[in-house]
Amino acid sequence: MTDVGWKREIEAKVYAGTRLTRADGEALYASDDLSWLGRLAHHRRTALNGERVMFNVNRHLNLTNVCSASCAYCSFQRKPGEKAAYTMRVEEAVAKAKEMEDEQLTELHIVNGLHPTLPWKYYPRVLRELKAALAGVSLKCFTATEVHWFEKISGLPADEILDELIDAGLDSLTGGGAEIFDWEIRKQIVDHATHWEDWSRIHRLAHAKGMRTPATMLYGHIEEHRHRVDHVLRLRELQDETGGFAVFIPLRYQHDFVDSADGVVRNRLQARTTMASPAESLKTFAVSRLLLDNVPHLKCFWVMHGLSLAQLSLNFGVDDLDGSVVEYKITHDADSYGTPQTMHREDLLHLIWDAGFQPVERNTRYEVVREYDAPPSLAERRAEPQQVWA
Ligand code: SF4
Repeated sequence: MTDVGWKREIEAKVYAGTRLTRADGEALYASDDLSWLGRLAHHRRTALNGERVMFNVNRHLNLTNVCSASCAYCSFQRKPGEKAAYTMRVEEAVAKAKEMEDEQLTELHIVNGLHPTLPWKYYPRVLRELKAALAGVSLKCFTATEVHWFEKISGLPADEILDELIDAGLDSLTGGGAEIFDWEIRKQIVDHATHWEDWSRIHRLAHAKGMRTPATMLYGHIEEHRHRVDHVLRLRELQDETGGFAVFIPLRYQHDFVDSADGVVRNRLQARTTMASPAESLKTFAVSRLLLDNVPHLKCFWVMHGLSLAQLSLNFGVDDLDGSVVEYKITHDADSYGTPQTMHREDLLHLIWDAGFQPVERNTRYEVVREYDAPPSLAERRAEPQQVWA
């Protein structure tokens, strides 16, 4: 088929709302026509979410960076006894979380290393204390990998673990630990025991218990386009079954520019990779939006992409810019791009208005907290320039 014929066929499917195939996904990735991809993805995004861009006011916390695994892409991990290794006491975690009380925080996002000796009971205890200290704040905590780890250290099944965590205040799992599900790639980059079978088992369980969870994909390292397509199609199939995924988040693999200053190269992939370019990221957002027709939201995690690309991504299928993140250590340990640590509510509003969209503050379940309809005029905004970060 000619290039024009193939494109017409895909366009017809997108405009008719017909589900795209694996071959369609691979063909879309093979296209260099970025503006065409953006146009198609924007059509889908607008049909699903109009001109809205969602965000929330959240804080990231990492209770410990001590990890039993040594994943080849990870700069965050530390081994017990290493200089920068840390584990928070429960009171420390609460004090950190309370630092953002004035910002009317609605969510805490907590992921951690797989600590070799911390007892399982530490985790529900932290959640209980956080919930008591921060009434009304949702707790989005732990990857499926961590839940699988809790099974190992507690001897309990995930079903009981989730029940105890929910009783302690857990509102949602996080979407991490997914990386790339295809085993050919996964076996080269992941150094723990959680793969597609356990990752999907744990999210399926969470959905059955009423949670709406995120799903992620780590791209831009040694995987090929076909592996990204495969990853998204596995999620699409699981979503057909459970309907429990609220959002898909493509995460750009990051090189380490900071962490190896101590002489230990933890991010071992970077010797054989480049990072995805901005165009590659936009393409990944667009193709993900087009393939993943049953997950309502697509997020650009601005910390990983910078603010310029975050604004552009809104025309490539993205309708969620995450939140006013504080201390996203897993990326910032590997980042020298000068992305800010924090975006306040006002900063996010202006970022979204400037890109021509309507900001909507959401909660963890993607329910509307507040709509912001009327942006100040450009003249007003120029008269009083906004600082974009603290
Ligand atoms: S990605 Fe997670 S499990 Fe893997 S080494 Fe890093 S902290 Fe540990």
